[in-house]
Amino acid sequence: MASKPPMSVFNPQRLDALRFAQAGARLDGDPPLADFRRLASDLHAPADTSERVRWSAEGEMRAGPSGGPSGGAPQAWLHLQADARVPLTCQRCLGPVLTPIEVDRWFRFVADESTAEAQDDDSEEDLLALEPRPSLIEVIEDELIMSLPLVPVHERCPQPLPDGADTQAEEANGAGSERPHPFAGLAKLKGRP
Ligand SMILES: [Zn+2]
Repeated sequence: MASKPPMSVFNPQRLDALRFAQAGARLDGDPPLADFRRLASDLHAPADTSERVRWSAEGEMRAGPSGGPSGGAPQAWLHLQADARVPLTCQRCLGPVLTPIEVDRWFRFVADESTAEAQDDDSEEDLLALEPRPSLIEVIEDELIMSLPLVPVHERCPQPLPDGADTQAEEANGAGSERPHPFAGLAKLKGRP
């Protein structure tokens, strides 16, 4: 009896996604964050060498829509999960802020890139091309970059702000109670007989 092929037959750099899905196979890894060069260019400073990107990928075949162009033929899907902690630049104090980012997405495979482009607007799910064989590492890096927060900030900045903006804000708040209530005048008007 033939046994399942070992995991090592699947190359995450050039994934045979159809066979991967047919086998219901799984791959995972935890390469150093520093290996993700495009992501690294968005970071506050070179990532700590101990920081790693943990990822896993699982393949699955699902029945296609019976009324669709594929006539109900099974389709290859991929579930991708990844997480990492990346040092970003705090937009308040400009210091490094270690930010957890996470990816958890499903992709459906189509024959090639032109099919993916043609169907992209009509599909709720994300599409990937079977050919040329995709690099899971590249897809993970794309998704990690897209999951970066637009405005990373510390919950509490570790150092006082250079321009004293925090102090000014506190003073403004403190003075608030002495200002007349904006509706105080209105209340007087309404109170008139
Ligand atoms: Zn900060």
